[in-house]
Amino acid sequence: MNRIGPLVIVEGPSMSKVPFSRSIFIDTESRVLIDSGADPEALKEINQQFGIDLIINTHYHPDHTQHNYLFPKAEKWINPIEYETSRTIEGIAKANGIHQEWGDAGVEMWRKNLPVEWVENLDQISGTYDYETEYNFSGVKAIFLHTPGHTSGLVSPYFPELGTVYVSDYDMTSFGPWYNGTDGDIEDFIKSGNRLMELDANTFITGHQKGIFTKEEFKQEMVKFLEVINKRDELVNQYVRQGLTFEELTEIGIFYPKNTLTVPIFKTWERSGIRKHLARLGLTVSKTDGALISAK
Ligand SMILES: [Zn+2]
Repeated sequence: MNRIGPLVIVEGPSMSKVPFSRSIFIDTESRVLIDSGADPEALKEINQQFGIDLIINTHYHPDHTQHNYLFPKAEKWINPIEYETSRTIEGIAKANGIHQEWGDAGVEMWRKNLPVEWVENLDQISGTYDYETEYNFSGVKAIFLHTPGHTSGLVSPYFPELGTVYVSDYDMTSFGPWYNGTDGDIEDFIKSGNRLMELDANTFITGHQKGIFTKEEFKQEMVKFLEVINKRDELVNQYVRQGLTFEELTEIGIFYPKNTLTVPIFKTWERSGIRKHLARLGLTVSKTDGALISAK
């Protein structure tokens, strides 16, 4: 396991690729774990050896909360914006665009396929932490920076004295920025990306895949990462000018590879993501006939 001072980086399988994520164990008397999406065996081992007291969830997405249930004795805190959302299936279905795209019937279908452990996790969230406030975990100072965009409540835990920040889902993967839930916001994503680039830190740890960046590397990667947003804008704009309908737009594969759009949740996020780019072009989808109309 990689270690930065008292911070122990716990990997998920396949370089913490979705549906897993990287967790961080703060190895001090306080026994704090940040996110629970890492390898379950590694997390169990840490819990057996040290006894986790507190889990900090950066946001409610299942790839960051999925192993909360392995820590029955620990407090589980989430950010204040997502506390209510994170506690119910309905809340998560709404925030993920399932309700927006498919209505109650879609939510019912999704609910039926949820893993039991994951549903168990929901009512275990026991409290919230504050944004932008210095915490001291037995000598390790941490500030939960509010970095919305990916979701509205997401935090990036920042350790000022270690010059280290866990940037969670500002993850620099080739997929590009993900803001496809109804609580995601492209403008906020760009603002948070810019804020993180300017942060006084030398070590940037992402939630998935590539891993650890120096400040210089992180800045370079972030510029490329944010550039993907412009490319999506251009692509959507180009298809709109060709006269494609919303339904046709959702079959191309702007976000997800075309051959994966048969997976209902990917199709859901493809649709909700395209709506956001249409909004940037001043367009919305007519509720009566699905035509693209001026949002004004
Ligand atoms: Zn996420």
